[in-house]
Amino acid sequence: MLDTLRRIVEDINAARDLNEALHLIVAEVKAALHTDVCSVYMTDPVRGEHVLMATDGLRTGAVGQVRLKVGQGLIGLVASRAEPVNIDDAPAHPAFRYIAATGEAPFHGFVGAPILRRRKVLGVLAAQQRDQRKYSDDEEAFLVTLAAQLAGSITQAEIRQALARIDDGPATETLFLEGVSSAPGVALGEAVVVFPSAALERVPDQDIADPEIEASRFRQAVAAELAELHRLSERMRLLLSAGDRALFDAYALLLGSDSLVNGTLERIYAGNWAPGALRATVLEYANIFTEMDDPYLRERAADILDLGQRLMNRLQEEQVGQRAYPDHTILMGEEVSVSQFLDVPPEKLKGLVSVRGTGASHLALLARGLGIPAVFGVSNLPPGRLNGREIAVDGYTMRVCIQPSPALRQEYEKLMAEEAELAQGLQHLRDLPAETPDGRTVELHANSGLFADIAAARNSGVQGVGLYRSELHFFLRDHFPGEDEQTTLYSRVLRIMEPYPVVLRTLDIGGDKPLPYFPIREQNPFLGWRGIRISLDQPDLFKTQLRAMLRAGADYPNLAILLPMIGSVGELSEALELLRCAQLELLEDGLAAQTPRVGIMVEVPSAVYQIDALIQMVDFASIGSNDLTQYLLAVDRNNDRVAKLYDSLHPAVLMAIRQVIQRVQAVGKPISVCGEMAGDPAAALLLLAMGVDSLSMNLGSLLKIKWLIRTLRYDVAQETLAEALTLNTAAAIRDCANACLEQHGLGGLLRVGK
Ligand code: PEP
Ligand code: MG
Repeated sequence: MLDTLRRIVEDINAARDLNEALHLIVAEVKAALHTDVCSVYMTDPVRGEHVLMATDGLRTGAVGQVRLKVGQGLIGLVASRAEPVNIDDAPAHPAFRYIAATGEAPFHGFVGAPILRRRKVLGVLAAQQRDQRKYSDDEEAFLVTLAAQLAGSITQAEIRQALARIDDGPATETLFLEGVSSAPGVALGEAVVVFPSAALERVPDQDIADPEIEASRFRQAVAAELAELHRLSERMRLLLSAGDRALFDAYALLLGSDSLVNGTLERIYAGNWAPGALRATVLEYANIFTEMDDPYLRERAADILDLGQRLMNRLQEEQVGQRAYPDHTILMGEEVSVSQFLDVPPEKLKGLVSVRGTGASHLALLARGLGIPAVFGVSNLPPGRLNGREIAVDGYTMRVCIQPSPALRQEYEKLMAEEAELAQGLQHLRDLPAETPDGRTVELHANSGLFADIAAARNSGVQGVGLYRSELHFFLRDHFPGEDEQTTLYSRVLRIMEPYPVVLRTLDIGGDKPLPYFPIREQNPFLGWRGIRISLDQPDLFKTQLRAMLRAGADYPNLAILLPMIGSVGELSEALELLRCAQLELLEDGLAAQTPRVGIMVEVPSAVYQIDALIQMVDFASIGSNDLTQYLLAVDRNNDRVAKLYDSLHPAVLMAIRQVIQRVQAVGKPISVCGEMAGDPAAALLLLAMGVDSLSMNLGSLLKIKWLIRTLRYDVAQETLAEALTLNTAAAIRDCANACLEQHGLGGLLRVGK
């Protein structure tokens, strides 16, 4: 059954359009279940109907004609229960409705499974049998499994069809795709699709205009690989036996064979680009070999995959460094990496769309920091089909619009103008203090990490950098930067911001930020080797960074050092010990570096409970609400499937934060919040009311939050907090805070547009 399932899903995914996909499904399922009928009904939510879309066994004339009201008949029963229904005598069931048009009178056995996507019923897949028949558990499970797989394939096929209609234009069709989280803002531009380099299985299909160019690219890659194999075989002549060298000959033979090369060329001439065509061919052949009985031949599957990977590397290498980004680039991909993001010249990068990931990922923080609108978790997005198309990214509604019509484009342009107007309108606040009308002051700091945003921070009226993510610089290199290079960088940052404080955070790699040149493979990266844990295990790297920070601090006393991911007193003592060591080493080299202010990030739940002990050992604390939320709620900040559960306004997170603020202030030390909450108006209101000393956020949010603080009385914020803390859900708390903002004329912070 598993093989049949896999084959059906592959066939469906290869279908040209939804119609073809649905017809394939019904024919193949009917054959697999040895049954008389298989049909697919799709739910039309606008008209409230289940429409017969394809059938093998009922009257074909009924397709598109039979429309059952939602909840009607056995199909309606499957959909409303969102569960399979399996009955041996359908007409005897109270929910049965006889529909003459289908000609289904003689059928008795019935099994139906809902086609579900993210809790929503898209349709029903049903089989029927002339005789009374109770389908077996295995058959029912087969249908359920297939229906679950179908949801994605059907959505993809629908999108392919909509794209084809757009291409056939005149453009009346609008294709919107929804994400699960975002970075605010609206952008228009041209899609540039990226994918993880060298991962054969993950290379997408991509439509092409000129097959000859792609075919010639591919032929060149094959020729270069053949030459390389001959060269390798020659070089190994002295080192390897003839038997061992046979591998090279086998590879050369494979490359000379019709199947791999011609198979790929055929796919190219059918309209796919070279990498996509190669992937499909290699996987097809590797599968054939994997299923062979002979163990020797089965092993050859690995050779085919390996050779395919080598060719893929060649095709990709040739692309690197050649990518010319359009002036209005919308970067897109299955999972865009931080390095791919940083590869685009900042002035050209206008928007970002990712199939995976969430608004709490580090990529999202970067986007927000640079004011790039983004949508994440757009699981239906077919990146391979979008390269070069015009795209609108709407970070407010979390939607992506593919090739907007002229009217829609105008609408987006209007929104962009209004956004710029709002930002302009707040400019007069630049040099005014962040003080409530009743005299409560909060220092506003910027989050930074790229050189470009430091200069911008200096000009935006902030009172310091509350979080400098030092690891971002490490991403721009292909090896660890040395002590001198780091010293120069930190000195520049400190000089630009002088006399305002700059909080340099030590390296926080791992989690979703593996360095390309320091790969870490783990089952649970966020619970693994991350942040301070790496620094303590690699004291060479850590002390190099600390010495660079201290050397910069020798000239610029506005330095403070922040330690990420501290989870215990032991970790903090070790880190402080290494800091003392670095200071001593500098002293031995003749530099008396002053002791900077040192703080910890409170972002691991254990630090919340040990805050009394930890705060005694340092000068200040900064709450990393992004990680604190992830770890307190056990919700991966990068996983779009659970993005709806990730909310820093969850009562548990607010209680933890309030407790930390109170405990730190009780010993007279400053406490800030530097996670994304600080720039979220509803959260900033509550943090202000909790009495936080400073908020550090991306620059794009800064003046908006200053407007909030200068508008809202502290006592009003405190009343709202008191009410919010009586509520039990994040949604209710957000509503409560947002209502307060609306009531005080700050609704403009919650949406764009007039
Ligand atoms: C945080 O976790 O809130 C934080 C500011 O650090 P990062 O987002 O870089 O992990
Ligand atoms: Mg963090």
